[in-house]
Amino acid sequence: MQQLDGIAVSPGVAIGEALVIDNEGFRIPRHYILREEIDGELQRFQQALQSVAGEIQQTRDSVSTQLGDQYAAIFAAHLQMLEDPRLQAEVERWIRDQQYSAEYAVSVTLRGYARAFQKFENAYLSERSHDVYDLERRLLQSLVGHERQQIASLDSPVVLLAHNLSPSETATLKPEFVLGFGTEVGGAGGHTAIVAKGLEIPAVVGIGHFLFDVSGGDQVIIDGHEGRVILRPDDPTLQRYRKRQQASRSAVVRLKGLRDKPAVTRDGIHVQLMANIEFPHEAQVSIERGAEGIGLYRTEFLYLGASVAPTEEDHYQAYAEVVAAMDSRPVVIRTLDLGADKLSPTPPELADPNPFLGLRSIRLALANLPLFRLQLRAILRASVLGNVRIMFPLITTLDELVRAKQVLNEARDELINEGVPCNRELLVGMMVESPAAALLIDRFIDEVDFISLGTNDLVQYTLAVDRGNPAVNDLYQASNPAVLRLIQRVVQVALEAGIPASLCGQMSSSPQYTMLLLGFGLRQFSVAPGSIPEIKQICRRVDLEQCQQVATEVMGMTRVQDINAYLMSELTKLNLGENDHSGGG
Ligand code: PEP
Ligand code: MG
Repeated sequence: MQQLDGIAVSPGVAIGEALVIDNEGFRIPRHYILREEIDGELQRFQQALQSVAGEIQQTRDSVSTQLGDQYAAIFAAHLQMLEDPRLQAEVERWIRDQQYSAEYAVSVTLRGYARAFQKFENAYLSERSHDVYDLERRLLQSLVGHERQQIASLDSPVVLLAHNLSPSETATLKPEFVLGFGTEVGGAGGHTAIVAKGLEIPAVVGIGHFLFDVSGGDQVIIDGHEGRVILRPDDPTLQRYRKRQQASRSAVVRLKGLRDKPAVTRDGIHVQLMANIEFPHEAQVSIERGAEGIGLYRTEFLYLGASVAPTEEDHYQAYAEVVAAMDSRPVVIRTLDLGADKLSPTPPELADPNPFLGLRSIRLALANLPLFRLQLRAILRASVLGNVRIMFPLITTLDELVRAKQVLNEARDELINEGVPCNRELLVGMMVESPAAALLIDRFIDEVDFISLGTNDLVQYTLAVDRGNPAVNDLYQASNPAVLRLIQRVVQVALEAGIPASLCGQMSSSPQYTMLLLGFGLRQFSVAPGSIPEIKQICRRVDLEQCQQVATEVMGMTRVQDINAYLMSELTKLNLGENDHSGGG
């Protein structure tokens, strides 16, 4: 048994057989073979050696012809290494004596060499470790086959263990087959985490290197509450987790009973609970979880897996589906937030060197007006079908907001001239997710009908921590007093101006913050659909005075650890494990 710690990003417990995918997208097979398989495995290794040697020779020859022998020398060195009898003997020894699969034996041997090179102080020699890794990758490709594992086409239940999963890959996972997943990289605020939560797949990210400790088919536990992954659990651990899994499921069933009850505090304050969605079909799930509307529809996922860019009609159809499913409930459609860790229309050769600070989101839309207009036209057309609102992401300057509204007005005039019906009174909102917007909120507020706090980005930009980088995850804290001060002020200014304010970052899905945010005056939460029942339960257990006390207490604190501990202790006092006996319908 081996226990690994990572970052919990989507709650729940998953128990199942591992499917292991490395950083090239290759499925890593089991590590041990049977005695009778040894000869076959040695043969596979020899075949891989020959095929990789052939590939390298070819590359060497063509580089030599095109650029000259001196440039081809690097490949000659690779070839020499590959043909080194000591290296071959070592791999074969692992296969024969330890009954390692050829893939595992290759990895163990070549990584050993790479580490030895890395230890050299001489920069030239330590750089050679990259050549060894390159050889390892080539051999593994040859052994595993060139096919990338199609995780979207899985047809039996597994626990997925991967180096990384992009948000788009995650979005294609089928919850009936992917019981849970764990990744070596990734951070709490990354979009992979957000999509996992939307799909209600238990997930742990940022585990660090561990894929070579696990074989395909090993039993694995993913604990999405505590951020733990357990490889090959022993019996007592397995029993414990089976009980936890059962308790988790019972809690979901218990909370289902809240679906038709209102989110009203004990002293009668109504809290509007909306859902964040990425795909049209989630609108139905949101209603099932008791959402009063869609507070954030992330439309950039329309671009997912599309070989050609979606047309105005594609946009319109997607919006129409959501609006129809939500009936007369509000639907906030956010305009494209492309770029950074989401999909980017930029070709790889023009990739932004610092994408989170680069041409992303509204900046990208304003720099690609035809793309932006196409979407605005579709939203305007859908605006007559129900209670549609539009929201612009990552507004940083007033000019940006004014410009975006101008483009919206132009699109509206265009449609009216064409005789196409659209709502002339469409409510316009902005995300408050840059410190600049939060600090200047009193100026922005005159230009919009509503605002929504995007804490996923607000935390990263305020604290200068990459939301997707596990190495700085400890710093990525919504409970940092600097962040809290910004949120409190934004909510207060909106309240005073009579402008509705919502919070649609992950923070609003986290029960730890509900009382604090209510205490700040927030009355609208937009959360992952699966989190609605839990947040509703908290709203029904508290009263305003209690929440205001929590807010006063927290705002007097300076250390994140103290704030987190205090918020957790206040949450525990609510006894959420007990049935809901609150009034309020
Ligand atoms: C946010 O930044 O909090 C937000 C909701 O937007 P996204 O996560 O899509 O960047
Ligand atoms: Mg954002």
